[in-house]
Amino acid sequence: MSNEQIPKTARAVVFDECNGAIRVDKDHKVAQPSELKAGEALVKVEFTGVCHTDLHAWKGDWPIPPKCPLVGGHEGAGRIVAIGEGSDTQFKVGSKVGIKWLADSCLNCEACLGGQEATCSNAKLSGYTVDGSFQQYAVSYLKHLTPIPDGVDMEVAAPILCAGVTVWKAIKQSNTRPGDFVVISGAGGGLGHLAVQYATAMGLRVVGIDTGDDKRKLLASYGADTFIDFKEHSGKGKLIDEVKRVCGGEGPHAAVITSAGAAAYNEALEYLRPHGTLVAVGLPPNATINADVFFTVFKALRIVGSYVGNRQDAIEALDFAVRGKVKPQLEILDLDDINSVYERMEKGGVAGRIVLKC
Ligand SMILES: [Zn+2]
Ligand SMILES: [Zn+2]
Repeated sequence: MSNEQIPKTARAVVFDECNGAIRVDKDHKVAQPSELKAGEALVKVEFTGVCHTDLHAWKGDWPIPPKCPLVGGHEGAGRIVAIGEGSDTQFKVGSKVGIKWLADSCLNCEACLGGQEATCSNAKLSGYTVDGSFQQYAVSYLKHLTPIPDGVDMEVAAPILCAGVTVWKAIKQSNTRPGDFVVISGAGGGLGHLAVQYATAMGLRVVGIDTGDDKRKLLASYGADTFIDFKEHSGKGKLIDEVKRVCGGEGPHAAVITSAGAAAYNEALEYLRPHGTLVAVGLPPNATINADVFFTVFKALRIVGSYVGNRQDAIEALDFAVRGKVKPQLEILDLDDINSVYERMEKGGVAGRIVLKC
């Protein structure tokens, strides 16, 4: 099923081996409608966000390496231009859809049936185990595409599909209620600046930890209650004292750690109030959470790992953007700019989120 001319080739960002050259292939083969299987769609990608995971994939940083050659990317926003014959789907040619990290899962195992699709042992991952959104035309699995509602621009929807979903899920797992204090560590970053907005929309009292006046101003504009510049509290125990002080003396009810530094995890265990929840999101390499058993028991702390979100979480995360409650800070570049984008990400020189036009 298709009602538009599909080109035979189009642009795609490809690497053949981890750490190898990343090339923008102008003649990458495009799957034709007749080649799609039932359950598959061809998505014309308009914008794709760039996530730190994409950089990790290219560098081969993780215990399980990606498939190679690989087209990366897992924050794609576009339109369906063809649907495999015999597909059972609510989508039509022309539907606006999002490509997220979880490209496919079985939907029948214990994890899937419990709404924990990300931990399905048959999960397929966009831009990792299957080709992703760094291309103009992507083959995707219909059952895991996210409907993009009207009222949200495609470039805004793109980063919600990983960064937004991830932090929305993390905040849902923080065991907090409106009025509670939540610390967002790494609050000015790609994940953190969205976490601050979701938490504020949830009615939480948000304490953002990061550094620099630009980030202070940015977070204040989102309605964060307090900003703590960690460089101003660098002595031993000083940051912990300051966090407790601004959270009514007792510390926050939850800490969502989006920063890629291991220290933030261990500090959170010290400043959380009794019954507080540490939500682990950011992935510092080779890091360990050092939880003292006595104080974990004595303060009845919870430590929760939060890994992306399910199909419903993605729908909810986008809905906040439709209602204008969450607005990613975007820098829009072109697919051709991928190499310089990775260089900047490695140096930590990206504020908010970079979105590429495909
Ligand atoms: Zn991601
Ligand atoms: Zn499953």
